[in-house]
Amino acid sequence: MTTEPELEATAAIAQQLIRFDTSNYGEGVSNGETDAAEYLGSLLEDLGLTTTYVDSDPGRTSVVARVKGSDPSLPALVVHGHTDVVPADPDNWSVDPFGGVIQDGMLWGRGAVDMKNMDAMIVTALQDILGSGAQPKRDLVIAFFADEEAGGVRGSHHLVTQHPQLFAGATEAISEVGGYSVTINEQRAYLLQTGEKALVWIKLIARGTASHGSRVMHDNAVTKLAEAVAKVGRREWPVHLTDTTEQLVGELARILGVDPQRVTPEEIVLATGSAGGFIQGTLRTTTNPTLLKAGYKHNVIPDSAEALIDIRTLAGEEDDVIAEVQRLVGPDIEIVVMHRDIGLENPFQGALVEAMVTSLGKHDPDVPVLPYLLSGGTDNKALSLLGITGYGFAPLKLPAGLDFPGMFHGVDERVPLDALVFGRRVLADLLSSY
Ligand SMILES: [Zn+2]
Repeated sequence: MTTEPELEATAAIAQQLIRFDTSNYGEGVSNGETDAAEYLGSLLEDLGLTTTYVDSDPGRTSVVARVKGSDPSLPALVVHGHTDVVPADPDNWSVDPFGGVIQDGMLWGRGAVDMKNMDAMIVTALQDILGSGAQPKRDLVIAFFADEEAGGVRGSHHLVTQHPQLFAGATEAISEVGGYSVTINEQRAYLLQTGEKALVWIKLIARGTASHGSRVMHDNAVTKLAEAVAKVGRREWPVHLTDTTEQLVGELARILGVDPQRVTPEEIVLATGSAGGFIQGTLRTTTNPTLLKAGYKHNVIPDSAEALIDIRTLAGEEDDVIAEVQRLVGPDIEIVVMHRDIGLENPFQGALVEAMVTSLGKHDPDVPVLPYLLSGGTDNKALSLLGITGYGFAPLKLPAGLDFPGMFHGVDERVPLDALVFGRRVLADLLSSY
């Protein structure tokens, strides 16, 4: 019998979290987050913190605790993670997605990347600070939210609207999808997330004449919908650089050694390798058809047909893009907005940004830190409704060749064990010094 070496605490906590199957299927259907929230809450209570549990619906538990800072004149910092994950089909994985398998020096499982890794790093960073008898300068609001993967309706949005006092005095936040390293031109760089695109989820509805499938029928809802979907899906939206992406493209051009006057922003971004596909979506609006619904029998022409389109725009461009989509599909197609959420863009400067860059530099010196915009969304959108400026900073030093951005919601999610220790140390530095 072989004995396994004992796991470092961050990996052990993340492993335990992965073993709680917190799959979130959307539209209120979920396995629930109570077990994960109570586990994280108990670890915070072990540090002497007082926890508040909020259930938006049965089983949909979020947990919040406040660490007192030494300087009450400083605004509080929210440090947050979500405990739900997107579902995983075990048939597509090479390990059990909810097994918390340790293999090849990595922790595997749904949530290893998004974002049970960061949940664990937050806890062990706090253990390092509070366990050594130190105290952060400012109050830290530690929050583990439910339901992030379905837009946060039963998590962050519920807490922000129903329990805003939990975030009293907070002006800034850090969380997921940023702070990790990528390898560009054989050089490591960190991507710090300073903003998020807006999202607009619409339904297109085509109407026509119900009829026998053998008739000559020009008023066919399926044909009309197909034409509309093709136009929206094929639309080449123009590149539109914001402050963040302009800065990013300039820095990437410098690292790649190309002249940004002669090479397009998209070529520069795609030349960065595995990070390119992730960043490409932030240069322009995207309008992707994702679901079709029409008809019920092979020889019956239905009277209506529907398509769902996932639209991601730059902050503030939502209404213009909806109007342009309406123009593209024509007046016969009805557009219903099913769900929308704002975009965010924060400056890549200021004391918090400097503190994040400094903390990274202490543990990985002389490696560039670049701002980037996220094509998806996080709970920072909900916190922004309280005037809280949120950044993506879950620091991980990753090996070249590991396509980390590609593993968000992907198969075989995995994170190197030493990257979790790196994140724990960088976060402990940041949270104790800022
Ligand atoms: Zn996430």
